[in-house]
Amino acid sequence: MQSKTNLEISKPKFIFITGGVMSGLGKGIITSSTAKLLQLSGLKVSCVKIDPYVNYDAGTMNPMAHGEVFVTDDGGECDMDIGNYERFLDIAMTKDHNITTGRVYSDVIKAEREGKYLGQCVQIIPHVTDAIKNQLRKIANEEMLEVMVVECGGTVGDIESLPFLEALRQIELEDGHSNTLFIHVTLAPMIDVVGEQKTKPTQHSVQELRRIGIQPDILTVRCKTPLTMDTIHKISLFASVKEECVISCHDTMSIYKVPEVLENQGMLKSISNKFVLKDDYPKWSNWKAIAKSFCEYSGIVRIAIVGKYVTLQDSYVSIYHALLHAGANIGRQVQITWIDPEEFDNLTKHINYLEEFDGILVPGGFGRRGSDGIINTANFARIKNIPYLGICFGFQLAIIAFARNVCNIEGASSTEFDPSTTDPLVKFMPEQQTVHNMGGTMRLGKHEITIIPNTQASKIYGTHLIYRRHRHRYEFNQEYQQIMEKHGMVFSGYSDNKRRTETLEIPEHKFYFAVQYHGEFNSRPGTPEQAFDAFIKSAVPKS
Ligand code: GLN
Repeated sequence: MQSKTNLEISKPKFIFITGGVMSGLGKGIITSSTAKLLQLSGLKVSCVKIDPYVNYDAGTMNPMAHGEVFVTDDGGECDMDIGNYERFLDIAMTKDHNITTGRVYSDVIKAEREGKYLGQCVQIIPHVTDAIKNQLRKIANEEMLEVMVVECGGTVGDIESLPFLEALRQIELEDGHSNTLFIHVTLAPMIDVVGEQKTKPTQHSVQELRRIGIQPDILTVRCKTPLTMDTIHKISLFASVKEECVISCHDTMSIYKVPEVLENQGMLKSISNKFVLKDDYPKWSNWKAIAKSFCEYSGIVRIAIVGKYVTLQDSYVSIYHALLHAGANIGRQVQITWIDPEEFDNLTKHINYLEEFDGILVPGGFGRRGSDGIINTANFARIKNIPYLGICFGFQLAIIAFARNVCNIEGASSTEFDPSTTDPLVKFMPEQQTVHNMGGTMRLGKHEITIIPNTQASKIYGTHLIYRRHRHRYEFNQEYQQIMEKHGMVFSGYSDNKRRTETLEIPEHKFYFAVQYHGEFNSRPGTPEQAFDAFIKSAVPKS
């Protein structure tokens, strides 16, 4: 635990972040940035995401509808905002930091079956709200947090979020005004023709919040350009929030600039007015320099991401950030083009288009659709000597591409999309044979990987042991290892006593590296994950 404390008392304080007007306002970034400021002021802080949907976790949701499934060290399949918290705070979260209606109800029903509520009629208030409060307090106490920032997903007024907001309101009642603080995130749209920032959506959304008994202390208002004094005055009056607590959250060049935007308007002072922080200023350390590195570039690197879920870029949000981290690290802006692999399923199509890019990345994916296009992509990158980074599915399909085109194993395939293949280069993991439920049953979370000396992987990582997160059911079939090696592929990383293959490389290629794990979840601004770093460095065009 941190030795120095910024607060007088040991009881954890809570900041609750709610959302108004509409989704997609960047509540996760505001949550992360607020927590970052508190961390920079010397406090032990962490974040929790409440997702009011009934799913137990994000693992079974469609990435094209809900965005990436972020995997934690302990194998949690979480909402993508957990990734923002990790990137901003550089703390490994656990799955408990993502609370869903599904998890809460499942705990309550389990307790009811165990007889923990004998004789009682189990109700939303107090039983469900108690379960929510207990879960939040348990994390805060176990992790000895001084401040816990809790983001409530959804928009105020949604039916699903009501029990959660009610629980947060009760915490304020029980812990007192000086230990709890509500930040409400809203929007001040600008109507182009009028050129005026409109405050009505914010007014209505605050009214909705008040209707359920919550008066926000701070409003962070999303807007294109900084809020004018007029707008701030009007919002302050109608929402009954002090002017200095109406904070303009205007567009920035990088999300890592948001802590500065908030702090320039006195965010920590406003929090301190309630919490009485000893140090209500951040010790920026290298954070400002890191944020600046995402705003000033000396050149670009063009990367094609050929992935199944590109219609929603949030499907690959950690990959996107890992690439940006790697670019910023060497003063390069990474320009990403999102390509659906189905475009290359049939080679009569324009795969040569990929030659325009400095590097090609194939991220994770599931199922048959687009797999031919990915295999063609992996092969094209190899033939054309274009830097290639394959992640999970991008690792498995690079194996198939190499087996088919270099080792002449024409029928090489994966049992994932060709169950009766004669040459299962990629096969179902033996442990998965007995698995029937789909939720939470993949090979998940952090595993130790041994890196073979004198390989590209050992150069990339500079160590013989790494720990990375996983999320898969299929793996390389090691029966084919010899023939692949004979033709020039090197397998340079293993796990589970060499029983599982984790990395591959082609030494004579400019950069051809693929991994079974998801390094993107470990990438941080200022310290990109090493494989992403090496990939971007290899892709920098020679001037
Ligand atoms: N579908 C593959 C598997 O389950 C790859 C998973 C992934 O890319 N995350 O093994």
